[in-house]
Amino acid sequence: MSVVTRFPPSPTGFMHIGTARTALFNWLYARKHGGKMLFRIEDTDRARHNEEAVDALIKAMEWLELDWDGDIISQYQQRDRHADVARQLVDNGKAYYCYASPEELDAMRESAKAEGRTTFYNRKWRDKGADEAPDGIDPVVRIKAPLEGEVTLNDQIQGDVTLQNKQLDDFIILRSDGSPTYMLSVVVDDHDMGVTHVIRGDDHLNNTFRQNIIYDAMGWDQPIYAHLPLILGPDGAKMSKRHGAAAVEEYRDMGYLPEAVKNYLLRLGWSHGDDEIIPMDKALEWFDLKGCNKAAARFDFDKLENLNAHYIKQTPDQALLNLCKPLYEKINGSPLSPQAETWILAAMEELKNRAKTLHQIVDESLFFTVDTVAPNDEAGEILKGEEAQQVLKDLPDVLSAVETWTSEEIMTACKTYAKGALGGKLGKVGMPLRAKITGRKDSPGIFKLCEILGKEETLHRI
Ligand code: GLU
Repeated sequence: MSVVTRFPPSPTGFMHIGTARTALFNWLYARKHGGKMLFRIEDTDRARHNEEAVDALIKAMEWLELDWDGDIISQYQQRDRHADVARQLVDNGKAYYCYASPEELDAMRESAKAEGRTTFYNRKWRDKGADEAPDGIDPVVRIKAPLEGEVTLNDQIQGDVTLQNKQLDDFIILRSDGSPTYMLSVVVDDHDMGVTHVIRGDDHLNNTFRQNIIYDAMGWDQPIYAHLPLILGPDGAKMSKRHGAAAVEEYRDMGYLPEAVKNYLLRLGWSHGDDEIIPMDKALEWFDLKGCNKAAARFDFDKLENLNAHYIKQTPDQALLNLCKPLYEKINGSPLSPQAETWILAAMEELKNRAKTLHQIVDESLFFTVDTVAPNDEAGEILKGEEAQQVLKDLPDVLSAVETWTSEEIMTACKTYAKGALGGKLGKVGMPLRAKITGRKDSPGIFKLCEILGKEETLHRI
């Protein structure tokens, strides 16, 4: 059987981090098995629909470097086909028109509540003939759910999950205005698209039992299911906007690399021994549904940062510079000058070896991009010190005497000066020099940065 998975997000305006993980797992499974991953937009909620929300999903997929096969399918465009299936089910006696009025339904709901039942529709129209239909009411179509017994779902991640059929009601598949419900659309689309594996969040587990009723009623093969547990925030609650980073776009904006986010999401729901660093080529080799965790996992930002630091180190200098360019531009309001680019590129090795995010690279190299550096608060404090001011007065002479402008020679000159004037402490020179040149208390090695800036520019900046 050739594998077909699907990625069917609802366009909400952003891509939830859990949705990204679902996309990743479907992508890995399809690619690993030489199959296809199809992309379907579940865009049937027309009242709230807008194209920007669809664009946001596509952009997020592109940023994550997850590709799909064929054109993106719009669920809404298939609505006539969904409605046809509903009518076919009625014709085959698997579904029926229900004429219950809103008042009747309210009354059923009330009595179900009073009796502590979860299902409420009393199946009044299940076995009535069309001749009993009242005039002037547009009916809905309901599926005939099994009345007794139980059903067991063999889930690839959750194992066997059994449900008593009496927990399922005759749910609506076609509304009175002729529009299909989500439950019906998903099944018809998945069937028509030839989906073999449904890998999705376990918040859909209950839907699966309902959807399988439709598969069975149509005589279609059910797909293989794998339900992934939820992603929780660090506090144990479902990951949401409140946690500060529910959307994939936010990770991009915080300076994370897609490789790190993917590796992190992969590990969050799946494991391969004790391996933590799993680039996508390895993931494609190792991924399987059996390795997926059953239990929900908590998000751990420290782990993500460590992975990001790893992937930043692996990224070529020029590629990192390209990724950082929009960030410099956002801060400065103008593109990088060729001179600044040269300097940053020369310092990239130092910068990337200490960076946990792209922002750190940008912050620590921002001084290359401006003529006059405004010291931050910490650097300002250092520069205020009397001794620091004396050092900065002396440094032009000390550094002018350096003949070969390398970090080693610069350091030697500063050491000699420190020995004479400052009780030998090199830090007493390095700290104010760093604060003055970079405007910061922390940076890569300051003598190296001076070497990159060049003698003239360093003296000019001091
Ligand atoms: N559109 C659904 C969601 O975004 C996915 C449904 C499914 O995977 O079947 O949660």
